[in-house]
Amino acid sequence: MPAYDLAAIRAQFPILSREVHGKPLVYLDNAATSQNPTAVLDASRRYYEEINANIHRGTHHLSQSATAAHEEARITVARHLNSPTPDEIIFTSGTTDSINLVASILGLAGHFAPGDEILISHLEHHSNIVPWQMLCERSGAKLKVIPVLNDGTLDLEAFHALLSERTNLLAISHVSNAFGTVNPVKEMIVSAKAQGALTLIDGAQSIPHQTIDVQDLDADFYAFSGHKVYAPTGIGVLYGRYKILDALPPWRGGGEMIKKVSFEGTTYNSLPFKYEAGTPNIEGAIALAAALNWINDLGLDAIHDHEAALIQQAAAALSTLDGIQLYGPSDRAASLSFNLEGIHHYDLGTLLDQMGIAVRTGHHCCQPLMDRFGITGTIRASFAAYNTAEEVSQLAAAVEKAASMLR
Ligand code: PLP
Repeated sequence: MPAYDLAAIRAQFPILSREVHGKPLVYLDNAATSQNPTAVLDASRRYYEEINANIHRGTHHLSQSATAAHEEARITVARHLNSPTPDEIIFTSGTTDSINLVASILGLAGHFAPGDEILISHLEHHSNIVPWQMLCERSGAKLKVIPVLNDGTLDLEAFHALLSERTNLLAISHVSNAFGTVNPVKEMIVSAKAQGALTLIDGAQSIPHQTIDVQDLDADFYAFSGHKVYAPTGIGVLYGRYKILDALPPWRGGGEMIKKVSFEGTTYNSLPFKYEAGTPNIEGAIALAAALNWINDLGLDAIHDHEAALIQQAAAALSTLDGIQLYGPSDRAASLSFNLEGIHHYDLGTLLDQMGIAVRTGHHCCQPLMDRFGITGTIRASFAAYNTAEEVSQLAAAVEKAASMLR
């Protein structure tokens, strides 16, 4: 395949050739869920056609094949994140599940005393807010919030002022799903660690767009969802530093997470199985590995450059429209949020849908951020490896047309 052959890339996504309301689909809702290439769809189908069986402890051939494929998927994820060992890769159902897992086991371990602080930011998705609020309610810890500046970036001066020896955890998104802001997480982790805090990165929006090296980031936890990175829904990952996870208590009880069960007492399995109670999403893990192989074959740098060009083009085209308000910094990653004066985001989104263009409208699970900007929501166009410059032009023309119909 020649360098970044868009036609060849698009041909691998069957859904992209469908029509919506009689118009060719222009799919710009990738920050919510990305589409699956045939390599991923084939991996899912092959699993069910050839090796579907429950994993671990099976003596029969299918079970052993499924176990091998599932554990091979774990190795693929570990390699992708540059995790020192696959034992640090816990399969979950997604970012939300991963963050709740961390919040639960830290809570169970009594990691937070009354007055201890959990530091998050005003940019966070609800799934990186609510689990910590719930933990604060249970433990007496306090939630502290790094403010956001008018350009949609974090107030780093305030971040440094908020950090103290009471900060027990920094939990922050790598990339904002609402505004596309890329947070300087590596530097923030250094500062948080200097205060002895644990660090968790919500990687839901960074995993599809850039190389992630958990050793280089030096994060204690990194969470992501498969469906944001060309894999199916219902599979996700928690990377957790071995020493930390190993010392933390188990969470959900059941099969697989045990070493020995008796009515007198149960002993628990080692990592990663200690945190994987019950039958996992076997096919999802295998499909996720196929998706990671797919992006690596294409090259994350190439994907990043392609998406950066699209988002620049989109920002430039939309900024010429009357009454447009773009949110977030100009170096935003892959998600572009905007509003048009006097027009409700929902109405605009509905008209765009009629023209075959899928965008997301609303608060993007970031209500505190919307409140901060005095809005109820935005229209968000978000880009993936398969989007084209022509689609960006179609978006800009459709927004202009929709605005003239609504004004
Ligand atoms: N964090 C961020 C930044 C997100 O964008 C999302 C999903 O949109 C999530 C967390 C939650 O992901 P999931 O719903 O897959 O658990």
